[in-house]
Amino acid sequence: MEQGSDSAELKTQVKDEVDSQQRRLIELSSRIHSNPELGFQETKAAGWLTQYLEGNGFSLERGICELPTAFRGSYGGGKPVIAILAEYDALPDLGHACGHNLIAASAVGAGVASKPAVDRFGGTITVIGTPAEELYGGKAIMVERGAFRDLDIAMMVHPGVYDTATTQALACQTLDVEFFGQAAHAAAHPEAGINALDAMLLSFTAINSLRQHIKDKARIHGIITDGGEAANVVPAHSAGNFIVRAEDDTYLDELKQRVLDCFTGAATATGARLEYHWGEVRYSPLHNNPTLAQLFSQNLQSLGRDVHFVSPDKAFASTDMGNVSQLVPAIQPKIAIAPVEVIVHSPEFATAAASEAGSRGLLDAAKALAMTVVDLLAGPEIVARAKEEFTQQK
Ligand SMILES: [Zn+2]
Ligand SMILES: [Zn+2]
Repeated sequence: MEQGSDSAELKTQVKDEVDSQQRRLIELSSRIHSNPELGFQETKAAGWLTQYLEGNGFSLERGICELPTAFRGSYGGGKPVIAILAEYDALPDLGHACGHNLIAASAVGAGVASKPAVDRFGGTITVIGTPAEELYGGKAIMVERGAFRDLDIAMMVHPGVYDTATTQALACQTLDVEFFGQAAHAAAHPEAGINALDAMLLSFTAINSLRQHIKDKARIHGIITDGGEAANVVPAHSAGNFIVRAEDDTYLDELKQRVLDCFTGAATATGARLEYHWGEVRYSPLHNNPTLAQLFSQNLQSLGRDVHFVSPDKAFASTDMGNVSQLVPAIQPKIAIAPVEVIVHSPEFATAAASEAGSRGLLDAAKALAMTVVDLLAGPEIVARAKEEFTQQK
């Protein structure tokens, strides 16, 4: 009973804390937005974020996991260790069209605002800076290097077009493919040529046929990066880049083999030689922890937002947060910053990430995260329940 009223009071306090930091957080977000940096090159963003945490009493480790732009800032000590994850990489050409500037500012904002809860109940709040989400799966690398090993809980909020407690993200892996044929004059001696472009086109046709007979939610998509040099030369080389996605790891393995069969079949048909390699980083599907999702949803709802448990648009992508969610109870809710017709990874979404709605999203995300930290630190039995669900989910 006493703890209940304590929590209510602390929730008010952490919200006030976010409000008092409002100007600095929005400024931090817009500075990152107007200085977009690609994966593993986010030196400015990492610098500003760590500076902010350090200035607010966090102890900092920079360049963790041998990644210069990864970091970890902690406040408090002992168990439980509650982590809030930050992303801050941008997209080529589009800048912050995924709104990672808002993820970064809300993460550090929530971390700093959570301090009174740590002071009152004990435990550790840690903000982990995770670079290169878009291009290289930074968190997957950090998982392998042990960055999340000592955590009890991991949370991160991503901007979107709905307020949701969960994110549906698919397992995925990239595939690079090359065909090697034989160049020849395309008119004078076509019979001497082996057409590497035809091998690639046949592969697309085979994949298009396969696509009709794969499980719901699975995705196969790709581009041709080399289709030959000149129309009067039989292409001796072709290359492409593909992504295969599935709802779970088992089906991803099955689908990978079937996709590969499309390429080997095309190689046989044309006589071209196939070379391929699967991407080093494999994204895992995202396990949304029900207890955490419920808590976050209630807290975000209390700020006057209409929170869906699952996104109504049923959009699926993949995220390296999936790899973290295989290791520790985790959530990645979404905060609405743009009208529903706006598409993530578009110039319109980049504009939204620097808009007033973006700032409101940032502040509400930081508040709801910090309020959830209050719930978790005040209730060890809640952390235990989240962990139990995690074990069952595996
Ligand atoms: Zn993105
Ligand atoms: Zn993103």
